[in-house]
Amino acid sequence: MFFNRYNVQNEDENEFLNIIASRPFAWAEVKGGNGYENVRGRVSFYRVQNGVVVFANIKNLPVSQEVCAENIFAMHIHQGEECTGDENDQFKNAKEHLNLNSCEHPAHTGDLEPLFAGRNGNAVYAYWTDRFTLSQILGKVVVIHLQRDDFVSQPSGDSGVKIACGKIVTR
Ligand SMILES: [Zn+2]
Repeated sequence: MFFNRYNVQNEDENEFLNIIASRPFAWAEVKGGNGYENVRGRVSFYRVQNGVVVFANIKNLPVSQEVCAENIFAMHIHQGEECTGDENDQFKNAKEHLNLNSCEHPAHTGDLEPLFAGRNGNAVYAYWTDRFTLSQILGKVVVIHLQRDDFVSQPSGDSGVKIACGKIVTR
């Protein structure tokens, strides 16, 4: 299949669009927790020759309508395997960021690009990465946080509470 030998950086953008149009190898159906029930969407992971293409399509993020609002939401792959928790942290069992090489944040295996939402609360993006392989992330969970990631603070970028979560599954 063309997407198994595809090299993102040597091909044109039409090839990139073909990847997104194909069936992903793995995906996470993301659902909002208490207080954020309307947040929903999917993060899809596509196999390419030298890495993974990540495609995110998330709706109803809790945006502000202020003129200078950032409306940026951190998103990471966490090492836990369940989107459950307790009254203090409803996705506590998502645990910490996936970190296979004992690095500091934001050099964790599971650190993803943040979501930049529009005024309607929707965020869509796609990018290529070689931080992880598909086998390394299967069964783990994707978590969206209430705030942006500062890419400095340890251990998780001071990105606020977890508002949505989804387990990474395959066909
Ligand atoms: Zn991290």
